[in-house]
Formats: sequence, structure tokens, C-alpha cells
Amino acid sequence: MTDMNERVETLRRLIRIRSVQGAAEPGKPYGPGPAAALAEALKIAVEMGFKTVNMDNHCGYAEYGSGDEMVMVLGHLDVVPEGEGWSIPPYEGVVKDGKMYGRGTADDKGPVIEALFALRDIKESGTALRRRIRIVFGVNEETGCEDMAYYKKNGGEIPVMGITPDACYPLINGEKGILVEDYSRSLRQSGGMKLLSIHGGTAFNVTPSSAEAWISAPEGTVFPEALRISVRYVKDMKDSPEVPAGATVCIRAEGRSAHGSTPEKGINANGLLVNYLAKLPFEGEAKDALTFLSEKIGMTYHGEGFGVDLHDDVSGWLVNNWGVLDGDAGHISVTLNYRYPVTFHKKDCQPKVQTVFEKAGWRGKTLMEEPALYVPEDSPFVQLLLSVYREETGDMSAPMCIGGGTYAKSIPNCLAFGSMFPGDPEVEHLPDEYLPLDRFGLNEKILRKAMLAMANA
Ligand SMILES: [Zn+2]
Repeated sequence: MTDMNERVETLRRLIRIRSVQGAAEPGKPYGPGPAAALAEALKIAVEMGFKTVNMDNHCGYAEYGSGDEMVMVLGHLDVVPEGEGWSIPPYEGVVKDGKMYGRGTADDKGPVIEALFALRDIKESGTALRRRIRIVFGVNEETGCEDMAYYKKNGGEIPVMGITPDACYPLINGEKGILVEDYSRSLRQSGGMKLLSIHGGTAFNVTPSSAEAWISAPEGTVFPEALRISVRYVKDMKDSPEVPAGATVCIRAEGRSAHGSTPEKGINANGLLVNYLAKLPFEGEAKDALTFLSEKIGMTYHGEGFGVDLHDDVSGWLVNNWGVLDGDAGHISVTLNYRYPVTFHKKDCQPKVQTVFEKAGWRGKTLMEEPALYVPEDSPFVQLLLSVYREETGDMSAPMCIGGGTYAKSIPNCLAFGSMFPGDPEVEHLPDEYLPLDRFGLNEKILRKAMLAMANA
């Protein structure tokens, strides 16, 4: 019988530490919170009898067994800020109605502690292992995965197989490639109508819900009516917004927000706005830029305008989220976040996008890139993990390909496996995050079995 009290007490030691990324301090690259959580996890691992290593407070690990090869469980101890709306204190580890509440209980301190208890059980059972088992504690998953970049750069051993219990079951065998790019151009404006300021969106990975442009328009300009577009004249404004010098009209688009991996579920306000503006009598480079954005992106979500609407059967379409639009009288810029299907590569799409922009006088730079991750469903590794999950749960759900990136992308040979179950309510990053204690037990069993299967496969 597993002792749930001991598990609750142990997890609570980590929940009590507010391990949100902070300003770097000497020897603490992600601030004091993440370093304190790492120290506590390593202490717990030592108490359990494992060998531990702290890699300069970027990450650390506990290890058990011997052998030339190693298999890995990768989890993280950093958390996102608690935010508003909690009905239960976020850093106390309160247990109520069979659930433990607190920031990090589900994402991802709970799974880390489950893995440690599973490994302790393996050690105590004396089961023979062909490979070493390493539990890695990252502390920068939520804000950039620099922890695992440091691990790789500083000689951290690469596992022959690894899992990260930081997503959902049954497992994720494909993650789309991700590119974030900025393109901009200068505007030399001519004619009677001028674009003075344009803004929409603040994050590359969110579909903007509103966007707005301030323009100066000649007296008597007619603004056609359009769905989700409002036109206000500065002379009529009762409130006192910050009006750019010379502006006479504000045009605002109301869209609907969505996550950048599923922009088609939203209504992109940037697209609504430029489609409207492109029909107005701008001239010269403002006309060129607005027409270009309207024709090449507008309300499309699959890169059609750039000829990169790639598709595969396992992960679907390339999706493009136009996250940010920004400009003033002299320049305009956009930030695109596109995610290509798992069987394609950057070279299949990025050069085309860049060429289309450059031909129209824009200059770009890549801000972020993650290659796609894909392990076919019939591969031995995927089948090994699936069979562990199916034996323990009886759930025959198929593995998934997703548009987001998980922690698995930060270490080679790694797949996201658990810890949320199909149909579980979303709790990560939300107020009143919790871990059901019966899930703790089940996850621990699954992790134990998966570790043994990987170590002895
Ligand atoms: Zn996480």
C-alpha cells in the first residue's frame, strides 16, 4: 500500500516554495524561487537514497542504477505566477475533498514527486535494471526552457529514451514545428489619407481580439459600414484617448481571441482591420503595405497567401497566427507565429514566406524556432509507452499530434507522456489548480511501469 500522507507531505514541501521566475542573482539564473525549489527537490531525492547533481541552479537530477545507457523522466519545478481568483491559498498545499490544491500541484511538481516515489519503489524492490534511470528537475520550463539548453550545452547526458509527464495521456507523438518571425518595412506616405498609428495584439501566440488604426482622412471621406468594424471621428470623441497628432478618425476591429496553435477558432482582429483599411483610398507605400497584408494574410489561417498551406494526415494543416501588428506614420511591422505539420521541415515553408515579404519590400528576422517532433505511432518506443498506459487504465485512446510545443522538444528522444487524462478538466495555469490524490497514485503506478519498461526494453 502506498502511503498517501507521506506523498502529500513531500509534495507540500515543493508547493510551499513560490518558484516563479525572478530576476537573476549570482548563481541563481532564474532568481531565488526556482533555485529554492530545485534545492528542496534534490534534498528529497537524497533522503530517498539517490545520487543527485545540481547543474548550477539551471537544473538538476536524481539518478538510480548502473549501466552505460540512461532513460529519463523530465519534469519541471518552476511555476507560472498564481494570478487572481484563488479561493484557496496557492502556496500551502491544502488538501480538501481528495484533492491537493496549489500552484504547481498538477504542473509540474506533482508529477515530479510521483516520479521520485516511483523510482524509490523501484530501488526498494531491487528489480534489476539494464539502464540507469534519471529524473531531471528543470526550473525554466514556463519561461523559455533555457534550463535544458544549459543541460545540453554543459555535457548533460542525452537519454536513449525519455518521457516528460508535463502534458497529457495517452502520449503526444507529434508536435508541430514552430516559427516566430517579425517582418517590417518603412512607409513613405503620400496622398490625402495617412496612416498615423496601427496596433493589434501583444503576444505572438495569441490571436488578437482587437486592433485599431488612427488615420487622418480628408474632409468628406466616406467610410463604408463593415461587420466588426467601428469608425469614430476624433471631433466626436467624448472620452479623451491618446490621439496621435493630426489624427481625425479611429478605426477599430473587434475579433475574438484564440490560442496561437488554433487561430481558426478565433477571429483575427488584425486581419479584419487591414482588410478594411486596404479598401480605403490610401496611396503610395501605405496602400502597398495594407494591400499586401490583406492579400497575403488577411483572414487566412494556413499560410495560403505565401503558398505554404502544408498538410499531412497525422497533424493536419500548417497554421499561421498573426499575433502582432504595429506601426506609425513611418513604419509598419507584423509578428507571425506559424506552425508546420510534423512531417515537414523549416525549409519547406520559411524561405517561401521570407521571399514573398522581401519581394514586397519588407525585411524580416526569425525570433524563435522549434523543429517539429514526430515519432510514428508504430515505432517501438510509442508502442512501449502506449501498452504501459493501456494496461494500467484500459483506455485505448490513440496518441496525439499537437500544435503546441511541450517540454519534450527540449531533450532528444523524449516524448510527452501524461499526466493529465483524457477528459480531465484543465487546471494548469488557472486559479485553484489541484491534483486529485487518486491521480497521484495512478500516475505513480504508470510512471513506475514506464521507467521499468524503458530501462529494460
Ligand atoms: Zn508544465
